[in-house]
Amino acid sequence: MSSCLFCQIVAEEIPAYRIAETERAIAFMDIFPATPGHALVIPRRHSADALEAVAEDLAACMTLAASVGRAAVSGLGADGVTFQSLARPAAGQTVFHVHIHVIPRQDGDQFVFPWPALSGDLTEIEAHAERLRGAFSND
Ligand code: AMP
Ligand code: ZN
Repeated sequence: MSSCLFCQIVAEEIPAYRIAETERAIAFMDIFPATPGHALVIPRRHSADALEAVAEDLAACMTLAASVGRAAVSGLGADGVTFQSLARPAAGQTVFHVHIHVIPRQDGDQFVFPWPALSGDLTEIEAHAERLRGAFSND
């Protein structure tokens, strides 16, 4: 048995409330939901996070996540959806098989937006843009 929790779900070695599946990806319910209807989308193939996953798996996961989001709107009456993917412990990731959270939202709900909307220093923003352009590769 794999030591990866989500690989065990892919292999049906542990149970999950599956919602939908494609050739590359699976959607199932998060059992510690942030809001009612909180789901997760994972690729069948293991990779630790979105920094490591291949483009085809990322595309398949985002496509399935959007479909699950539309189901949350039409089937659960969500007013909106938060899509979220954490990469590495510094970002708060706890399960190291890449996943996209699909979190149904209601107008005025209690879900905590993760950063305060404070204006940035434009000189610093431009400097970070420059460093990111320098490091960027279209792999
Ligand atoms: P993250 O913190 O982004 O790595 O998210 C991992 C998510 O996996 C959390 O929201 C957990 O609630 C969820 N989770 C952990 N174990 C299970 C499980 N057995 N079935 C479904 N969701 C799980
Ligand atoms: Zn895995």
